[in-house]
Amino acid sequence: MLVLLKFVNSRWHTRHVGLVPTMGYLHEGHLSLCRRARSECAHVAASIFVNPTQFGPNEDLARYPRDLPRDLRLLEQAGVDLVLTPDPGEMYPPNFQTYVTVEQVTQSLEGAARPGHFRGVATVVAKLFNIFQPDRAYFGQKDAQQVVVIKQMARDLDWALDVIVCPTVREPDGLAMSSRNIYLTPEQRRAATVLYRALNVAKAIWESGQREGEPLRQAMRETLATESLARPEYVSAADPISLDELGIARRGVLLSMAVRIGATRLIDNLFWNDVLLQERLVVR
Ligand code: AMP
Repeated sequence: MLVLLKFVNSRWHTRHVGLVPTMGYLHEGHLSLCRRARSECAHVAASIFVNPTQFGPNEDLARYPRDLPRDLRLLEQAGVDLVLTPDPGEMYPPNFQTYVTVEQVTQSLEGAARPGHFRGVATVVAKLFNIFQPDRAYFGQKDAQQVVVIKQMARDLDWALDVIVCPTVREPDGLAMSSRNIYLTPEQRRAATVLYRALNVAKAIWESGQREGEPLRQAMRETLATESLARPEYVSAADPISLDELGIARRGVLLSMAVRIGATRLIDNLFWNDVLLQERLVVR
């Protein structure tokens, strides 16, 4: 389904188009991307699609939260012009058989923990880029590896667009906003603040001049261990371009982690020296 929230004339492609891909159940993080797109582009499109190909067989595809009427209201308020809300069968019709695989930067972190995840992400984002032909596409730092993967894909496949990375929007206590936070019980919600605390402990060590990866990882592990409800899946201090685990940092660091709180899997990250933000892709 294509929902026109505003009048869109036939000269759509003669002015700058911004695209904000989402899986819906929107929060301030998503809306910050939309508002940034609104301030920078003549036309703003968003998509809401819980993309089945990026979920593993034991993941939360079936119960992923959805509220389309509320999402459409929020997108309209954020100034979005049109919203694509396709059915899975429209994006992946029978006999669909073409996927995009980004190789090296999908091997570690989320790619290692969620086999096939980035194949699904790259494929659906490639389709959205082809459908909308955006000049600018907006993604959140919250999913830092996703940004690296999409920049790599866009560069490799010659898309003439800018990939814009927007800062992570957090709750007042530091928890990164996520559609999945709804799964947390009040006790788990309190425990979930340990991710940001752990990242900040490592940040302080980095800012004191530590450039070796292992002490940063160790500090994050130790902080996570203080919270009995937190079960770390990985902690990482990686090179922000290659995503390889750091021995010694040469060009900044991406601190990241995936942690289970009960059945809910949460991810978060911080990075220096803004390499991910600065390395804006411009292919023209
Ligand atoms: P999702 O609906 O989870 O696929 O997210 C859609 C887009 O919103 C992705 O580019 C995410 O990185 C971004 N996003 C999700 N949570 C946040 C957040 N807390 N702050 C900023 N961007 C976010």
